[in-house]
Parts: sequence; C-alpha cells; structure tokens
Amino acid sequence: MDITENAHLVTAVDLTHDGLGVCKLDDGYTVFVAGLLKGERAEIIVTERKKNYGFGQVVSLVERSPYRVTPKCVHYETCGGCGLMHMDYDVQLSFKKYRIETTLKRAGLDNVIVQDMVEMANPYHYRNKIEIKFRQGPKGIEAGFFRAKSHDLVNLTECHIMPKRLFDLIILIKNVANELGIRAFDENSGEGCLRSAVLRESGKNKSISLLLQMESGPLPKQALFVQKIIAKIPEVVSIAVTVTKDESSMSQDQIEIIQGPDTILDAIGPVDFEIGYRSFFQTNIVQTEQLYRKVAEYAALTGKEKIIDAYCGIGTIGLYLAPKAFKVFGIELVKSAIQDARKNAGRNDNKNAFFEVGEAEEVIKKWQKFKFDVLIVDPPRKGCDQRFLDSVLEMKIPKIVYVSCDPATLIRDLQILNAGGYDIKEITPVDMFPQTIHVETVTLLSLK
Ligand code: SAH
Repeated sequence: MDITENAHLVTAVDLTHDGLGVCKLDDGYTVFVAGLLKGERAEIIVTERKKNYGFGQVVSLVERSPYRVTPKCVHYETCGGCGLMHMDYDVQLSFKKYRIETTLKRAGLDNVIVQDMVEMANPYHYRNKIEIKFRQGPKGIEAGFFRAKSHDLVNLTECHIMPKRLFDLIILIKNVANELGIRAFDENSGEGCLRSAVLRESGKNKSISLLLQMESGPLPKQALFVQKIIAKIPEVVSIAVTVTKDESSMSQDQIEIIQGPDTILDAIGPVDFEIGYRSFFQTNIVQTEQLYRKVAEYAALTGKEKIIDAYCGIGTIGLYLAPKAFKVFGIELVKSAIQDARKNAGRNDNKNAFFEVGEAEEVIKKWQKFKFDVLIVDPPRKGCDQRFLDSVLEMKIPKIVYVSCDPATLIRDLQILNAGGYDIKEITPVDMFPQTIHVETVTLLSLK
C-alpha cells in the first residue's frame, strides 16, 4: 500500500460484479473500493493504479448505507471469501439479480425475464465441502483459507459458512497433529507433510469424510491419528490420504483410504447419492433442492421424454428427473464421477438412466442422429464449448434447461443459442452461495 498517497473523499455510484464500490476521483479517474456500498461516502486511498482505473481502500466511512450490516465474521476483511457479508441479505439478493440484468442488457438481451432470486431461509453454515490449507506457525499448525490472490493463510478462529461440525473437525485436526508431532509442509525448509485437507459433511446423515493432502507420505502415526479423530468426532466415517502436488478439485492423484468406505452418502430430495472423494457434488444441499425443483418445473416432464444431462457429475440432475422421464442420458468428463453415477442409478433403482464418460462436445456429436426432447446442461464456470453448442443447434432439441454458475459465460452461450433459433423464456437465480459474490441460475429456452 502506498501510504504517501493522499486520501480522497468519494461516493460509490455503483457496484462492480464482484461487489466493489465504483467511485470517481475529482479528476474523473475510476477507483474500485472493496467493502463500500452503493451511495456510501468515504475517505479512501488508492492502493493500486492502472492506466484506466485503480483499486482503493476505505480509510474512514463518512456516510453509511442503511443496507450495511456488521459482518458476522472476524475474518471478513482478511479472508475475502464472503465478499458480501457487509450487505443486508435482502440487498445481496437484489444485487445478484441486478448483476444478471445488467449483463443481459449489455449483451442486447434486455427483454429476458429474470425472476427474483430464490433465497435461502438460513443463509449461514451451508457449505458442506471445505478445503483448508495448513501452515506451521510458531505455536503449532495453523489452518484456514488463503487470502484472495495470495498464499497468505488466514488462521481461522471462526467461519460462518461451513457447518459447525466441520469447524470442530478443523480444530481437532490441529490439536491431534500438534500432539502427535505431525507438521504442516514448509515450502522454504521442505520440512513437514500436511499441505491441505478436504472436509465434506453429508446433509442426509451428518457423516463426514476427510481427505488429507500431503507433500510426502506416509502420514506419521497414521493409526493413532485416525483413532484420535474418530474418538472425538465419530461422525467422521471415512478418512483418506493422498500425496499430491495438484490440490485442485480436478486432481487425479491417487487416494489411499485409511478408514471406512470410499464414499459418503447424501441425498437431494428423495434421491440418495454415494459421493466419492474425487466427485463433484453440490455444496449447498438445501438450495440444490430448490435449484433442481426449478429444473424439474422448467423441464415439465410427462414421462415420455428422452433427456440429455450434459456435464452431469455423479448424475444428480438426471437421477432426480429420471422417475418422471422416459430415458436419461448423462455425459461427464470425470470417469470416477460416472462410476458413482452408475452406482447411484442402481441404488435408486433407476433403470432408465445411462451414463457415458467423455467430453460433452465429443459425446453429443455421436448422439446427433438420435432424437431428444430436453437438454439439461450444467457446465463448469467457463460455460459450454462452442462445438457443443454447434451440435445442439443442429439437433434442434425442443427444450433446453441451462444451469449456470457464472452469468458472464451463461449470457455468452445464451446469445449463441438465441441467434441459433432458441427463445430465452426465463431465468431464475437461486442463491446457492449466500454472503459470497457467486451467482447460480437456471434458464429455460425453447426452440422457436
Ligand atoms: N450437474 C452436476 C455437476 C455440475 S459441475 C451437479 O449438479 O452436481 C460441472 C461438471 O462438468 C463437473 O462434474 C465437471 O467434471 C464436468 N465437466 C467439465 N468439463 C466437461 C466437459 N468438457 N465435458 C463433460 N463434462 C465436463
């Protein structure tokens, strides 16, 4: 931070998509300021100057918005994970809807109906999967999240979006590791082994799985570690370790199960799912039910439809819809997720659901000669591949239900589908990630 910079008195005239206040200095230079709400006046300093815009930080708040609330979390400013926690929850909802509307407008799709966001009744402690990082501190292991765009660890003393039991487990892991002399990996000295952990809690039966990601194995005093964890938190039904350099959710590094089964059981509505360590599963189950209910409403199935569920993960949407459809065909890139999908089809006695491993853009090409009635897509943040959309346009599937976690790529794809002959009927946003800037939507399209 450049502390020689003078303070400026500014007013936030708008919010960026990331929830930063948009301010203009006296000379017209635009500065984006974290934590400043629309209409608020503040003294700020510019902390980063680029050619056409910069970033700033509040020194003192001069006029407060009536929509400002005190963030629940002591780590709010340093962690950065809950970028909207200073905003009243109702205002978070309207901000996210506004964000979709402005993106649509910019794309020339002004006439699309955007419904009010489906809110979460209790918008805290919802995130059932958490990845935490470890670091060796002066008093033992520290655990938490990296500050945005950095490798600075925020050593968590509280967190309001993860379930309380997962937070208890983080504290327990630290205590047991300290007691047994298990250390966090230190990049400078090369000592220690623990890099990070992935914790997942089932909404159905509250069982927990724990994956420890290590720089090198084996985990010291492994048997004792397991014993001490499950003695204190018996909900931990499965523990695994992996030696990994790729800690991302797409990592394919081998996992060794050291306690319990290799999956945990969860449910969305009446449908049960076994979830493996490497499989994607929705992180907010309460809201996933709302999301899938909307998908079912938009799909409006009669029992005669042949459906594609593209980017299907472990088959969640397809299996949710299968009882009301004639046949469901899922496509997913990750092989183990498809294995889970097939297992889940069997578990729920769905004999009309079929799954294929591969890139959606490749698999759909092979299916081009068949007739389908509904296409469900739920791609990752980067949206659908152009080749996938080209195939879809050729297939002339009457109805598309598009689930998206990024309005920018959604609207890019909607423009392509709209130009190719689809009407965009309606968008319903569902608040899957309260307190954060993330926006999830379901869109209904039909062939003109
Ligand atoms: N529909 C699922 C999963 C959605 S997440 C659910 O609701 O739970 C997006 C999924 O797309 C991930 O499982 C990811 O592995 C998969 N994926 C990413 N790129 C893909 C591609 N090119 N083809 C098929 N699947 C892909």
